[in-house]
Amino acid sequence: MLTTGGTPPFGGRSVPELGGSAMAGVTFDQVSKRFGNVAVIEDFDLEILDREFMVLVGPSGCGKSTALRMIAGLEELSGGRILIGERVVNDLPPKERDIAMVFQSYALYPHMSVRENLEFGLKIRKMPRPEIDRLVEQAAEILDIGHLLDRRPRQLSGGQRQRVAVGRAIVRQPAVFLFDEPLSNLDAKLRTQMRAEITKLQKRLQTTCVYVTHDQVEAMTMGHRIAVMNAGRLQQVGPPLEVYEKPANLFVANFIGTPPMNFFEGERTDGVLEAAGLRIELPPAMRAAAEKSSRPRVVAGIRPEHVTVSRPPAEGPSAPVSGSVEVVEPLGHEVIVYVRVGDSLFAASTDSRTRPAAGETLTLHLRTEQLHLFDPESGARLN
Ligand code: ADP
Ligand code: MG
Repeated sequence: MLTTGGTPPFGGRSVPELGGSAMAGVTFDQVSKRFGNVAVIEDFDLEILDREFMVLVGPSGCGKSTALRMIAGLEELSGGRILIGERVVNDLPPKERDIAMVFQSYALYPHMSVRENLEFGLKIRKMPRPEIDRLVEQAAEILDIGHLLDRRPRQLSGGQRQRVAVGRAIVRQPAVFLFDEPLSNLDAKLRTQMRAEITKLQKRLQTTCVYVTHDQVEAMTMGHRIAVMNAGRLQQVGPPLEVYEKPANLFVANFIGTPPMNFFEGERTDGVLEAAGLRIELPPAMRAAAEKSSRPRVVAGIRPEHVTVSRPPAEGPSAPVSGSVEVVEPLGHEVIVYVRVGDSLFAASTDSRTRPAAGETLTLHLRTEQLHLFDPESGARLN
């Protein structure tokens, strides 16, 4: 029996039978993967909880699809173990893993109708006809594709095809959904809408999801937790806000957030950080953290929303620095002002009434309590 939280399900209707399958988390235990002698995944440890929505996010080529395909059984491991629930699945064929995967390409059968596409996986498992009909009807209702059941994939829009692809996964009532960049082929508006729908669907079905994307906004908005990857290695795992507010290293700090965090390198003497035109008194806690590093050089980072233009911020101490405006980017509700300070270009997020002109000299105020400090060698976070 399905239990949903307080949020109304898809379309406000109740579909009690779908999603009632076995539940399971997914565990990567010291997983590695090589293609020939090229290591694409190394030392990979990750525990995805039962019913969790986990997003694997990282730049193109970092190994996300490979990690997902190893869960699915489409790639063999070179080392380590993967568990689905309590079971080590290393040697299980894909069809015995109780997973369903949705691809970017949709991978629908072009010569079959939508209904036949939805039924296909159930028929080959010899499910009785009434059961197939029931599951297809329910999935069609949840995804609002009931009126499309007799069409062929080529008669559908991109968004409709994506729904069918999702429908094909949910009729199988798997213990785990695997999504590989399922929204990449959709236009921006539809992508935002489908993002919300997939989130709601997961809440509704309470099925463990592993969702791969290179899009950090998608990761931030969809994941219960996000796992940030780079070059085959896990960089940080945590709830989206925690990763945003306390990035574990320079890579994560740079990858998560738009416009990206500002960085500048400087020299620390006692509690003062000096960098291109800036002299920052570090708050006590930050000072103690920075002193854990024996090196005087640090890389400091600050997000654009913690840099104010012209006026000091309403709260907290700040450090002023002046520079000349290079670019002004009006985004509607906010304006991003890029200011040249020595070797660094600082982005400051300001409200839409602020419209400095290129070439103008102005003062930025950095909220010192919001600084992130990193070791320049290892990239590791210090504070
Ligand atoms: P992502 O999904 O994060 O973009 P992938 O997992 O697809 O990354 O790929 C990770 C790395 O592994 C890339 O360098 C890619 O070229 C390589 N790779 C992926 N599949 C194969 C393969 N079948 N043979 C050789 N190299 C591969
Ligand atoms: Mg990929």
